[in-house]
Amino acid sequence: MKLIFEKSVSGRKSFSLPKLDVKESQIDIPEHLVRNEAPNLPELYEVDIVRHYNQLASLNHSVDRGFYPLGSCTMKYNPFLNEEVAALNGFKYLHPYQEERTVQGALELMYELQEFLKEITGMDHVTLQPAAGAHGELTGMLVIKKYLQENNLGHKNEVIIPDSAHGTNPASAVMAGFEVIKVNSNNEGRVDLDHLKSLVNENTAAIMLTNPNTLGLFEKDILKISDLMHKNNALLYYDGANLNAIMGKVRPGDNGFDVVHLNLHKTFSTPHGMGGPGSGPIAVKSFLKEYLPKPVVGMKESGEYYFDYDIPKSIGKVRSFYGNFSVLVKAYTYILSMGKEGLKKASELATLNANYLKEKLSKFLDVAYPDVCKHEFVIKGTSLKDYGVSTLDFAKRLLDYGMHPPTVYFPLIVDEAMMIEPTETESKETLDEVAAIYEKILEEARKDSDKLKKAPLTLPIKRLDEVKANKELNVKFD
Ligand SMILES: *Cc1c(COP(=O)(O)O)cnc(C)c1O
Repeated sequence: MKLIFEKSVSGRKSFSLPKLDVKESQIDIPEHLVRNEAPNLPELYEVDIVRHYNQLASLNHSVDRGFYPLGSCTMKYNPFLNEEVAALNGFKYLHPYQEERTVQGALELMYELQEFLKEITGMDHVTLQPAAGAHGELTGMLVIKKYLQENNLGHKNEVIIPDSAHGTNPASAVMAGFEVIKVNSNNEGRVDLDHLKSLVNENTAAIMLTNPNTLGLFEKDILKISDLMHKNNALLYYDGANLNAIMGKVRPGDNGFDVVHLNLHKTFSTPHGMGGPGSGPIAVKSFLKEYLPKPVVGMKESGEYYFDYDIPKSIGKVRSFYGNFSVLVKAYTYILSMGKEGLKKASELATLNANYLKEKLSKFLDVAYPDVCKHEFVIKGTSLKDYGVSTLDFAKRLLDYGMHPPTVYFPLIVDEAMMIEPTETESKETLDEVAAIYEKILEEARKDSDKLKKAPLTLPIKRLDEVKANKELNVKFD
């Protein structure tokens, strides 16, 4: 495809204005600020601009184009209704400096969303400020840090994190000033309880857990883990980025967790990826309320909503204004339109779809932990090496079949990992087709492994040097 600059023809315009029928106004721009020459902008007809950007967009994969089973990322389909509501003028044209009495509807939405998230997580208080999951983690860990300092527990500086955890967990703990201690997984893929016991001591500040964990397995020992931590004056942090398997079924608050973050842009149906706006609210038990970032949205006895800045021990602000408001609108719309039963059903279908696909793929690929899974499962790609190919080759070949590869090489504890999360919004026909394509690619690996090694063969961009693309990114046109 040509660049838009290559399509440019000097003098071509995408607008036509009526002839000037008033005197041209002269603005006095200081000499040193005036350009010497016109900026180099592409000049095209409107239709060519529209086509250019639509063609570019069509080169990207998206949930609207095809299957997108990116494990841990919950690329579910996002109903258009959410977008329509977020685009209502009353929401779209709000200004964050407007007086509270003029934004009562927006405050009510935020207040109710806080209430919904409390109910869904089984927690007592919520802040909607954090802008993403990792940002929620950092906020939560700062809350824990402040709590420990305020309660003469400032010596507690160790945070225990399983070896299967998402990389943001250790990063957040370190940024909040803690030291990370790794706990091993056992051969079932769950936290090794004996190893955990040996690690807990008077310096243990908290454990950060993902449940179901990144292998898609529920930590059955969660109540034992919670007892162990609390007996040692340590807290439990819940990475709730993917609530997709347990929403409406199990509440982290009831399992003993003290702090929870949620990814509204995963579980609660906001389109994400490419660094778009996200939202990572955190929910805490009541003893941590006084440390939350301010403001939170409150309701007076009169029924009036307001921003509550009266949080004297607050860790401060973690984001400008009140969070990514449009993402909050989408999550609110999603929760209301699904209803209590709908959310439960989504969890059930996400789990059913994952297990269905896991069983189909297990006929010809190795499932790392064959136990019944929750919303995702992990394939161990070691056997691909027998054909001289890798998980990366397999993933690249999937692109040729019009589907996005799963998350690869994560979690780190599985060799040549492929982490598959089909989500609840895929039909049985799609899952059957996916299994058939995986089998076909495996057949290709056996007979013609070059096809995989050179893949993708059909896309405009072929195999990239991914390290180079990362380290020496060059998006400049000369
Ligand atoms: C996605 C994810 C995160 C981080 O969320 P971001 O919004 O990408 O910062 C944290 N933990 C888990 C398990 C995740 O899947």
